[in-house]
Amino acid sequence: MHSFDLKRKNAFLDGKWTAQDSARIYCLNEWGKGYFDADPNGHLVVQPEKNPERRIDLYDVIEGLREREIHTPVLIRFPDIVAHRLRSIRESFLTAIADHDYQGSYCGVYPIKVNQQRHVCEEIRDLGDDLDFGLEAGSKPELLAVLGLTTGRNHMPIVCNGFKDDEYIETVILASKMGRSIIPVVENFNELRLIVKHAQRYDVRPNIGMRVKLSARGAGRWESSAGMRSKFGLFITEMLEALEYLRSCGMADCLKMLHCHVGSQVSNIRQLKNAVNELAHIFTELQRLGAGLDTLNVGGGLGVDYDGSQSAYGSSINYTLDEYAADVVDRIKVACDGADVSHPRIVTECGRAMVAYSSALVFDVLGTSRIDMDPNIERIRSDMEAESEVPQPVVDLLEAWDSLTDRNIQEIYHDSVQARDEALSLFNLGYLSLPMRSATEQLFWGVSRKVLDWATKREALPEEFQRLPELLSDIYFCNFSLFQSIPDSWAIHQVFPVCPIHRLDEEPKRRGILADITCDSDGKVDRFADRKVDKRTLELHEQKPDQRYYLGVFLVGAYQEILGDLHNLFGDTHAVHVSLSEAGAWEIDEVVEGDTVREVLDYVQYNNEAIRRDIRRDLETAVREQRLTVSESKSLLQFYDRGLEGYTYLEQASD
Ligand code: PLP
Repeated sequence: MHSFDLKRKNAFLDGKWTAQDSARIYCLNEWGKGYFDADPNGHLVVQPEKNPERRIDLYDVIEGLREREIHTPVLIRFPDIVAHRLRSIRESFLTAIADHDYQGSYCGVYPIKVNQQRHVCEEIRDLGDDLDFGLEAGSKPELLAVLGLTTGRNHMPIVCNGFKDDEYIETVILASKMGRSIIPVVENFNELRLIVKHAQRYDVRPNIGMRVKLSARGAGRWESSAGMRSKFGLFITEMLEALEYLRSCGMADCLKMLHCHVGSQVSNIRQLKNAVNELAHIFTELQRLGAGLDTLNVGGGLGVDYDGSQSAYGSSINYTLDEYAADVVDRIKVACDGADVSHPRIVTECGRAMVAYSSALVFDVLGTSRIDMDPNIERIRSDMEAESEVPQPVVDLLEAWDSLTDRNIQEIYHDSVQARDEALSLFNLGYLSLPMRSATEQLFWGVSRKVLDWATKREALPEEFQRLPELLSDIYFCNFSLFQSIPDSWAIHQVFPVCPIHRLDEEPKRRGILADITCDSDGKVDRFADRKVDKRTLELHEQKPDQRYYLGVFLVGAYQEILGDLHNLFGDTHAVHVSLSEAGAWEIDEVVEGDTVREVLDYVQYNNEAIRRDIRRDLETAVREQRLTVSESKSLLQFYDRGLEGYTYLEQASD
């Protein structure tokens, strides 16, 4: 049952509110997994190495950026977290390999589709040199990017997935001839024919991978990435034909890698285990039939616990990295030992788990909207006296308000809902004045507030009141575009953790949802991380007149940047790379400035110079006709010019 768990909250209220109380209500430890915490000053801190001795104070970073004229919204990337994630994934696999006495090796591959930003890919590539990681491309543009990223690194594994045309495959074969460790993964039979054609033409013996359609499939959002109806991969019968075809071309030994991908963000470990198990058995069978296979690529799927619930719910996962690695190794070993086949090299393509933790978006709150839940009874009574005939529903609502006690609360609430609905119908038929409509709203919200106060004294909200906290909560208007910065929140209702980055040592006394600055009613965040999976409002602080209030959205490093769009022409935010020095101070490695208005207008094919000329002509006409003075027209043109070079987000007065 959904609960409005005030018992837990009251425990905090016994003493002074501390940052750790905030850490608990925002579930920092649950979704933060040691990368994020609250310090005693009430600031959110980032621990890129999960080491509490080495922290980055995020509020301090935002203030430091403000001094440098870099304003929110701003995306902060933490390269040290990427490094820690890659090392952790590798360590988990090496431990599992040692524990299981597994004879094969491990290689992680980063699918650049997860975040293609050059800086991110270069970091991973550089780390990959030491950690034996490679890169994956899923399209022709990505292949060209990956080939560029890996120059001078012939040893670095490159996996090529996705649909391929003749040109794509010719490029791969030539790269292979050049000495690159590149492996095209066959997604359909035609690609295999093209590979053979170009291999023969250029006299290359390529390493070939094949993606198989498994019967095991993931669950949830991406379950159609696998299974018989998946758009990718070969049916088993086609695999056999493919092997036969390669054999007839004298290339059976070129088939090196078997590949599957059950989907992204697989929440339930069972699905992953089933898929790897099936893949491993197909591997042993193909080997028996003469394929030169030596590598098993289990694809992506390793999820991230975005909501901190550690459950099989869509924004969470019910397993750990160690468990995942152990299960992959164990399933493959058992299948291979059973068939007396040597243990293959294991490849994973778990991009989400590599980069999700490494970015956070920080934005400022612009203002709030809240429902006034204290009816002005005196005013309501005098407005009622001024009516020639007071509408019955308003009389009923006033009575409800006057007679509300703990004992009749549910009954009174039902009566109030009915009276409110009747009053609104009267209004729509033209039988209710605006003052009476105002009285209706005030009384209804007043009764609702009392009901909520009563209900929250109980341990769990009765079902009919479950939406009340959400209905009565504040709206915090925030300086960001959900469609640009966290598109999955809108597209697939994915939960991203949200938390103030300061004032965590103060009790947040309001509850609210977040609205972005797009003119789109979908541009709101109304699902939040919680141990119990469905939290619809967030604890927030009252805004202070003299201090900006900053919120952070965390775990946005995977997919969000590239899926983000230009809705309402809000462009890319600034992105800043922040790392920790040896001495423990934060430092800025890189600033990638966000889009200017000129850039986003260019993108939608506006000719800014032509528009400027037209505006100047319009201004001259206005001056000639004395609607504007010369200095006013100059100001407007300057405003236009400044606007074009400015940030697409709102800039506050003192910015
Ligand atoms: N490999 C392939 C073939 C994919 O299509 C994807 C993404 O869907 C991935 C790997 C990355 O998976 P994940 O998001 O689980 O890291």
